[in-house]
Amino acid sequence: MAVKLFPCGFDIPCQVYACSRPARWYLGRDDGPVSLCMTLCDTCARELVDNLPAKLKPISGEADVQPSRQSYNCPKCGKAFDNRHAMAVHARWCEGEENGTAVAESAVVSATGSV
Ligand SMILES: [Zn+2]
Ligand SMILES: [Zn+2]
Repeated sequence: MAVKLFPCGFDIPCQVYACSRPARWYLGRDDGPVSLCMTLCDTCARELVDNLPAKLKPISGEADVQPSRQSYNCPKCGKAFDNRHAMAVHARWCEGEENGTAVAESAVVSATGSV
């Protein structure tokens, strides 16, 4: 339910001026009528992203330092998971050889309690 680029499966042309390539992407709301979306080919979609106004671009560097994909660390051994549930399952059985401390136990309770 957001404005975004989403795949176009129909055999229609890119709507960018002077571009005659087949469209690969819709630009618009994915829950709205696709007839109201702009169509873009791969090349134009990439140019759109590459030429975003500076104020719309993510601050350079920050994206690299802080990946958008969140990671969850086992409170006992510190092993990283990109899935909270996988971490909780692991932590339940983890022996915590590396960093096992009393502090870790309360962290496990909060991690597993809300799954
Ligand atoms: Zn195009
Ligand atoms: Zn662990």
